[in-house]
Amino acid sequence: MTERTFSIIKPDATRRNLTGKINAVIEDAGLRIVAQRRIRMTEGQARKFYEVHAARPFYGELVEFMTSEPVVVQVLEGANAVAKYREVMGATNPADAAPGTIRKLYAESVGENSVHGSDSQENAALEIAQFFTEADIVG
Ligand code: GDP
Repeated sequence: MTERTFSIIKPDATRRNLTGKINAVIEDAGLRIVAQRRIRMTEGQARKFYEVHAARPFYGELVEFMTSEPVVVQVLEGANAVAKYREVMGATNPADAAPGTIRKLYAESVGENSVHGSDSQENAALEIAQFFTEADIVG
């Protein structure tokens, strides 16, 4: 089933000029980048985006990291896009990520792990709506 998922290329990756290399992995996996924008995330946007982790000890560090450098927010489309992108991203901790995954190839640590991808279709819709309108998405 064709679905959409939400992706972020995180500050550790934009800082190292990895946007194109990460997009190549995404596209080689059969996912289509149907919207993309480079932004500087505000503290308010980052706090809201990671609200679910507000009680975690790393929340402050995570918000600080996500606002430290530009990020690239994206909408990806394809068959089973949510699960497919989670597979392409690899495990949260790059030490546990499978060979060939974005995090195995590029992530620096469990926190600075290069990419975000939605974990459910419901969250994908909410996350896309935080950063894009329907008019921004050209499938
Ligand atoms: P994801 O869905 O694979 O991104 O992982 P989670 O939803 O568990 O965590 C969200 C994000 O929080 C991760 O991608 C990391 O950037 C960050 N994070 C998770 N665990 C840690 C941690 O132990 N330390 C720090 N600094 N950041 C973490």
